[in-house]
Amino acid sequence: MTVVDLRSDTVTQPTIAMRAAMMAAPLGDDVFGDDPSVNALQERIAALTGKEAALFMASGTQSNLCGMMAHCDRGDEYIVGQNAHTYRYEGGGAAVLGSIQPQPLAQDAAGLMRLEDIAAAIKPDDPHFARTRLLCLENTWNGQPMPQAYLQQATDLARQHGLATHLDGARVFNAAVARGGDPFHALRDIVDLFDSVSVCFSKGLGAPVGSALCGSKALIERARRWRKMVGGGLRQSGLLAAAAHHALDHHVHRLADDHALAQQLAQGLSGIDGLSVRSAQTNIVFVDVDNGRGPDLLAHLAQDGVLATGLIGLRFVTHLDVDAAGIDRAIGSVKTFFAQGGSKPAAQAAGTAVY
Ligand SMILES: *Cc1c(COP(=O)(O)O)cnc(C)c1O
Repeated sequence: MTVVDLRSDTVTQPTIAMRAAMMAAPLGDDVFGDDPSVNALQERIAALTGKEAALFMASGTQSNLCGMMAHCDRGDEYIVGQNAHTYRYEGGGAAVLGSIQPQPLAQDAAGLMRLEDIAAAIKPDDPHFARTRLLCLENTWNGQPMPQAYLQQATDLARQHGLATHLDGARVFNAAVARGGDPFHALRDIVDLFDSVSVCFSKGLGAPVGSALCGSKALIERARRWRKMVGGGLRQSGLLAAAAHHALDHHVHRLADDHALAQQLAQGLSGIDGLSVRSAQTNIVFVDVDNGRGPDLLAHLAQDGVLATGLIGLRFVTHLDVDAAGIDRAIGSVKTFFAQGGSKPAAQAAGTAVY
């Protein structure tokens, strides 16, 4: 049975064509700065995001960390959503490694922090306080594109108070494609508002490894030092950069296919008694399962070869390696679970690990 893996868009395997591009890549030693494939990728993504420079990173976490450390000194502070990746899901790296204090703020269902809250959290210049230096936003957030007007207002507010702005754009290409029209144009619209942006090649774009931090030359030079310090100075990483090049050539417009599959899944699940579909604006579908049956549903799905994540709110992510037939299988398996009264599958009842 082939597995329909909807746990994340990080699970994609490099395509045959991508592997061929990797094998053909000219290589050097990127710590010496002479890997032509890495250099070309950095120039390309800097141009696409309209920034002076870019730095290829091993992961989005490393990219955000080096970005925050390049913006902030010890004793500085960044304002960030309570559920943002750069606060909640990066091991506290900015605080642990950068001595940068997070100031997390509540977010609404769309991931937005209230502008009043942001303004109130910016501290005056007083030795009692950390120096508020940076605003971090995320787009997409939980699969939802941030409204452009909000991005404009929040970054304007930050700038009025002398803060720098960083966008965690792990899935910013999804946000750009979701706008319709030319995604590269939409990308510029979004990232032009920020001093720096981190983009991932290894999520919807389907590369095996890699992110890029984009920003001013000075910022990128500071980030390069931090990247080396955290062990991110890679050598013949042109192998990986070539995969990212291939992804930019072939996997940007097709993100619309992932969004259509997410719609197919959301529509197929809507109307099933016992769950409610929360949102499916790009490639992520959140489903709330009644009566604490989320884990049972996940176990049932896994027995049918359909993988997802979550507890009460289950998360299904579409990507390059799923198709309409796989989505139909996922819908069918959910329907069977509820048709059977939503009970535990036998294997789990017997205490056998399902996955
Ligand atoms: C995935 C992700 C990252 C980075 O994750 P890595 O696994 O470290 O590449 C950062 N921010 C957001 C919003 C993400 O979804």
